[in-house]
Amino acid sequence: MKRSTIHVLAALSTFTAAHAEGGFYGDAPDATHPWAIHDMNRPQPPRVEPGKNGAAPSDAIVLFSGKAEEIEKWQSDKQPAEPTKWEVKDGVLQCVPGSGYIRSKEEFADCQLHIEWSAPSKVEGNSQGRGNSGVFLMGQVEVQVLDNYNNPTYPDGFASSIYGINPPMANALNAPGEWQSYDIIFRRPIFKDGQEIDPGYITVFVNGVCTQDHTRLEGGGGHMRRSSPRPFPEKGPLKLQDHGNPVRYRNIWYRPLPKRAIEGGDTSLMSEAATAAKRAEIAKGIREDAAKLTGNAKMYRLLESLCYADDSAAREAGIKMAAAFIQTLQDTPADKIESKKGEALQFQKAMNYLAKFKILPDDFPAKQQVGEIVKKNEWDKKK
Ligand code: MG
Repeated sequence: MKRSTIHVLAALSTFTAAHAEGGFYGDAPDATHPWAIHDMNRPQPPRVEPGKNGAAPSDAIVLFSGKAEEIEKWQSDKQPAEPTKWEVKDGVLQCVPGSGYIRSKEEFADCQLHIEWSAPSKVEGNSQGRGNSGVFLMGQVEVQVLDNYNNPTYPDGFASSIYGINPPMANALNAPGEWQSYDIIFRRPIFKDGQEIDPGYITVFVNGVCTQDHTRLEGGGGHMRRSSPRPFPEKGPLKLQDHGNPVRYRNIWYRPLPKRAIEGGDTSLMSEAATAAKRAEIAKGIREDAAKLTGNAKMYRLLESLCYADDSAAREAGIKMAAAFIQTLQDTPADKIESKKGEALQFQKAMNYLAKFKILPDDFPAKQQVGEIVKKNEWDKKK
């Protein structure tokens, strides 16, 4: 292979990589999306080591993993200063009937919660009287724990119902005595100035089967009475119910979830004000990055920053560097110009992008000039 061919191929591969991974690629940021589509300025998801063989993932807060001393993480609900009378035996946390609810000392709100439970293998009672307990998120909303393996009851009080609010979509329970797992995604209701701005939602998987799909909350739910939306505190304990049955628990952990857009987070659709603030922050970061670079890399970062938020100094510097790059193309002798093909096409893509999203005017001189150079050298024709 000729040296010049290798050079061109190398330049072309740089060009492809830049467009796959750099700016000027997907649709630009807009009024409610601070990032472009496929934006490499967006933070990479944080690494979480998944739990092996049923263990909690690396960023989980473990409330009970089977150790006797973990009883210290819990207290009596009636007298929070008092230790709970629930027992840890053989790596299992067991309800002692009559001892009252148990609550975690840890307080939290929006979360992914994992909890496993087992109803007594000796079947006693029926309907709500068989293997009854409950998982109370923030101490407010009960995800029902009940042995419904072969035990009909009112559906909105069934195992994994949001008690008094919504029955589960399926009965995916194992037989009594066997372990059941609940994986719960919980989002608390959010109120602002007395107005509900997000009702809160709950999703539940029972033994891997989805039984609640983003079920809208209506306050906390409850026994016999219809509940209505109401503000929740910022955080609260996890409570487990004593309903008079010796239900056992193990492997309890949660992972806090990031803030929703509505409360200042940057997940999903954001408000225009929050988007503008985020765009300014992203632009600033790109300009700080540009300050460490030289040559075309610097030029592209400066121009890219304008896609997020305008800045006269960055605009002026970027435009000046674009003009200088055009000059180098124009000054390149005809027998050397082929070596500039990759760079020129990359530049043209950037110019087209900036014009398409009206970051720079369509008749921007460097855009026109690179267009002429590309056309003259027939780089726009497929070979
Ligand atoms: Mg219950």
